[in-house]
Amino acid sequence: MSTPALDVLEKRVLEAKTLETIRWALESYPDLMMTSGFNLNGTVLVDLAVRAGFRGELVFIDTLSHFPETLSTRDEIAARYTEVTLTTLTLEGSDLPGCGAANCCEVRKVLPLRKFLEAKQPSALLSARSRFQSETRAILNTVEDSGDYVKVNPLVEWSQEDLEAYAKKRDLPVNPLYWQGFLSIGCAPTTRAVREGEDIRAGRWEGQSKTECGLWWGDKAI
Ligand code: SF4
Repeated sequence: MSTPALDVLEKRVLEAKTLETIRWALESYPDLMMTSGFNLNGTVLVDLAVRAGFRGELVFIDTLSHFPETLSTRDEIAARYTEVTLTTLTLEGSDLPGCGAANCCEVRKVLPLRKFLEAKQPSALLSARSRFQSETRAILNTVEDSGDYVKVNPLVEWSQEDLEAYAKKRDLPVNPLYWQGFLSIGCAPTTRAVREGEDIRAGRWEGQSKTECGLWWGDKAI
């Protein structure tokens, strides 16, 4: 029997370690919940989490500004992973800030999720962030404690190439915009495709100093 190439073995070890991290999180926090915007990272994490035994709630925030492809990806994921309960948080009220306004992410994303989590009170959340994604994420640990929730980040060590290879191997329903250069996908009005040589999140909030939506980073972060 021939031995697989070293890079293949490395990927297998990474996958096994990640599954083990998620199993540990499930044992430690049986009420574990997960949120996702169904970027490449999120889709990979849903697949790994279900393989590891996650049967909890998967929460998607509908900001009313998503690309149609993002909503289709969410629907494909809901159809494929029937083991989990996919909940879409829809916004209430008509007085929403304009897309991209300073408080837009806070009103359309952070506050709805915070309200939902305050009602559910899970002890821990799974997050799909990786260190390679940005400078702010380069220092991520596998486990964080925000005070309100423990956050478990099983994909911290994954590279973009690891994620793409896994998605192809498992034939995952990746947002089709990803393969068109939208390497980080938020709402349509404030996301563009990344140009060659740019940071993976350079297509988010062009022209603004903002680099994170505030869900995971900042003084109002979850
Ligand atoms: S990503 Fe853009 S449009 Fe979406 S909530 Fe944030 S600022 Fe608003």
